[in-house]
Amino acid sequence: MVIGVLGGGQLGQMLALAGIPLGIEFRFLDPSADSVAGRVGELIVGAYDDPVCLARLAHGAHAVTFEFENVPAGAIEWLARRVPTFPPQAALAAAQDRVAEKALFAELGIAIPRLAGVSTPDELRAGVERVGVPCVVKTRRMGYDGKGQAVVRDISEVEEVWTRLGGGGSGGGDGGGGLIVEEFVAFGREVSIIGVRGRDGACAFYPLTQNVHRGGILRQSIAPAPDSAGLQATAEAYCRAVMERLGYVGVLAIEFFEKGGVLWANEMAPRVHNSGHWTIEGSICSQFENHVRAVAGLPLGETQMAGGPGVGGGSVAGMVNLIGTPLDLIGVLGEAGSHLHWYGKEPRAGRKVGHVTRCAGSRAELCEWMGRWEGRLAEP
Ligand code: AMP
Repeated sequence: MVIGVLGGGQLGQMLALAGIPLGIEFRFLDPSADSVAGRVGELIVGAYDDPVCLARLAHGAHAVTFEFENVPAGAIEWLARRVPTFPPQAALAAAQDRVAEKALFAELGIAIPRLAGVSTPDELRAGVERVGVPCVVKTRRMGYDGKGQAVVRDISEVEEVWTRLGGGGSGGGDGGGGLIVEEFVAFGREVSIIGVRGRDGACAFYPLTQNVHRGGILRQSIAPAPDSAGLQATAEAYCRAVMERLGYVGVLAIEFFEKGGVLWANEMAPRVHNSGHWTIEGSICSQFENHVRAVAGLPLGETQMAGGPGVGGGSVAGMVNLIGTPLDLIGVLGEAGSHLHWYGKEPRAGRKVGHVTRCAGSRAELCEWMGRWEGRLAEP
């Protein structure tokens, strides 16, 4: 069985590392000849909208999926007419536009910040006045890892922010660029739910994960999120509602702000997600294997914590992102219980080049380990 993947980054690489033991082969399409997934499958180097490349990707494939959400809509439409392609186009369309995404959440009864979609400097000013300061202004499309966003603390900053964010760009004629103005949520913490839905409609969910971002980039995650027993069912219900509405197949991540015990949806990712990397060692079946199983039409795997006694086994798991740091094999592997995932990318400031995971028998043990890592990693 061959699975085609649009995108050849580390998420693609980890999908293949999970799927190869199931007897599945992987084929990737990426414009960059250096794509790291080329180490674990056939790499087609070319544009995502080149029909010749798309035909090569789809040829004889059992299914096609993607590992990033800025895939051109036309590529997915082209592929979906020829080969089972998951997650569906509707999920991609919602995730590519922050306004459509928030509208979907609101329609499903999921709490969201106050917001305004704007496309001119005057509309931005009116939007900031309506939402109130402080607020967060983001490009509607193509933003990731905190890029394309700014906090507005005073109405006088509006012009500068419009210029800095380029008015959200042209949008390439597929529904417009533009910006979104969002209420600044003074959250207590950030959490995410990772769910998976099979071709038969079966759903499974991982324990809620608590995440720390700095500069808009995920730095660390722990799971299960502390004191989240009361939130798990709500997050699962939200994730299930989104997946069912979209006829979803594959892994879906939804990121929330928690404020006063209430979950506010921030955004969703129709793919495997950085806040689920801990599942490789921390759960019985990882998000990567479950995504592969789902798109391939196979039964889903167990999403419970892997548990188990001994160093590095246990009921809690933590993940620390390596951002712009050089490879330090001895430093990481010399620490009992640490697992290294090095993506094979050249370290550059702000670039995710790997992650480290640790499972532990107690939160105290895990927090001590995470604290050591925090101290070790220089700020990029
Ligand atoms: P995003 O690209 O929307 O995931 O934003 C990246 C990070 O910026 C989030 O994980 C938050 O830490 C922060 N952030 C984004 N939107 C808001 C908001 N409306 N209020 C407060 N913080 C935000």
